[in-house]
Amino acid sequence: MSDSPDPATQPPPFHLLAKPTGSTCNLDCAYCFYLGKEALYPGVRARMSDEVLERYVRQLVEAHQGPEATISWQGGEPLLMGLEFFRRAVALARRSARPGLAVAHTIQTNGTKIDGDWARFFRENGFLVGLSIDGPRECHDAYRRDKRGRPTFDRVMRGLSHLREQGVEWNALTAVHAANADHPAEVYRFLRDECGARFIQFIPIVERPDRGGVPCGDSVTARSVSAAQWGRFLTGVFEEWVRHDVGEVYVQMFDVALANWYGEPSGLCVHSPTCGTALAMEFNGDVYCCDHFVEPGYLLGNIGERHLAELAGAPRQRRFGQDKLDRLPRCCVACDVLFACHGGCPKDRFVVAPDGEDGLNFLCAGFKAFFAHVDESMRAMCALLRADRAPAEIVARYRESDAVATTSGAAATLPGAAEALPGAAATLPGAAATTSGKAAHSPGDSSDRRQT
Ligand code: SF4
Ligand code: SF4
Ligand code: SF4
Repeated sequence: MSDSPDPATQPPPFHLLAKPTGSTCNLDCAYCFYLGKEALYPGVRARMSDEVLERYVRQLVEAHQGPEATISWQGGEPLLMGLEFFRRAVALARRSARPGLAVAHTIQTNGTKIDGDWARFFRENGFLVGLSIDGPRECHDAYRRDKRGRPTFDRVMRGLSHLREQGVEWNALTAVHAANADHPAEVYRFLRDECGARFIQFIPIVERPDRGGVPCGDSVTARSVSAAQWGRFLTGVFEEWVRHDVGEVYVQMFDVALANWYGEPSGLCVHSPTCGTALAMEFNGDVYCCDHFVEPGYLLGNIGERHLAELAGAPRQRRFGQDKLDRLPRCCVACDVLFACHGGCPKDRFVVAPDGEDGLNFLCAGFKAFFAHVDESMRAMCALLRADRAPAEIVARYRESDAVATTSGAAATLPGAAEALPGAAATLPGAAATTSGKAAHSPGDSSDRRQT
């Protein structure tokens, strides 16, 4: 095995989700796509050894030539490893990092195991915590249950209270599915007002039947969100957000859209032209092309045999990422909102397009509806950015417009939208196109997550 990366194969900047417990979890969420991955490692206790941990941390920092590297943990449920494991990881990172390299730590958790000790540890070590919560009790408990079928809402809220008490940085990760998709405003207000979330990721559940850990067929389960529901959900949340919270609450999908309208990289693989820089690693050091392709056909190799930098930069991985663009169906290539959508995630491209071609995204109709709905607002926010003004000014415009509509009984139009420039994807220098002025901020930064 090579101990250090071959400089000739330095990968592009990448993000890796490490799964120290593999698919092992204390919950049994009905829509979980990862529990079935235990079929890939039959009869093996999925638990990252100290040897793999040490190799992983060292290789990860070696593979990052820039000023920053992020160590991201996910699952299954990573907290099942216990606090000592993560203390070792932090200490290893400190020892392995070359001078000048800042190492960040993120973890995605179902939250049920978080107590005061965990929360203190997260705060002391600057962890960014992604917490899975699907909305108010009825929405959350519909599918997020434990192994005995018991609801988990109260345990998650208790975990959250520890995070908030300690002032830990955290994000809400909310899966959107049949049980909450028709309640966008209620879900959003709950996250904002009752949880205090300031960073929110919404993830559509598109769940296909699974065989041996590999999704197959073109039908989806009744738990899945439909394309139309996904569009309506995003639109419903947007209508609330744009009137109250621009610049205050970061909703990943809206900042991703704004970046695409502005002509800057969006930072989210799903709505970028190519992908392939968000890898996943199982407990034993096996590295896969993506969290959504932890399948035998997408195994790049093991870090015990090849350095992580070589695996991340392998031609096969580059091809995986390039295929997102090269395999777009014709109707995407001709689509008006391709600049914003980029065909969505390849894992969801399993329906037949109107012209009979395979490989259209299951969520296509929802994407189209949402992007059409926000076009005027996105243009207005881009115009504000170009004028060196804050996108949050749009909130006041909406309020004025609503007030006029209420008085006159006319349909609300957005004042100021006319000053927005035509041409959706002008590439401009200047301020980063974010609604809050803050950088995108998530344990799943460069990839969306279905399971946590
Ligand atoms: S989540 Fe989808 S879009 Fe992102 S890297 Fe994986 S396959 Fe590509
Ligand atoms: S909206 Fe539909 S047709 Fe357009 S790029 Fe997205 S998936 Fe393709
Ligand atoms: S969705 Fe997350 S918390 Fe739920 S069973 Fe899967 S890994 Fe566990």
